[in-house]
Amino acid sequence: MMDLDQDRMQMVTEEAFNKTSNLRWQMAITKAKVELEANPYMHHDGHALLILSPSGEIYSANGACQCRAFNHGQPCWHRAAARLVERYNEAQ
Ligand SMILES: [Zn+2]
Repeated sequence: MMDLDQDRMQMVTEEAFNKTSNLRWQMAITKAKVELEANPYMHHDGHALLILSPSGEIYSANGACQCRAFNHGQPCWHRAAARLVERYNEAQ
């Protein structure tokens, strides 16, 4: 599990959520926050966010991802999570 300050992550998440009117991205952001707080298998290596998904897949997300949603041009929570971590780190 990532060692995150919950207040700062909440602030970053709300900012990201309010910046988009795309419902799929909003759902991705909501899911990303839940996973960031609960999924023990997430690690940012300074370049990308490595995620062991609950489905058993391993993703390396930054601007791109390897999941089905990304392949279909859809928002995914992996990229949302990677972006949240970047913004979280910038906010320090
Ligand atoms: Zn993805």
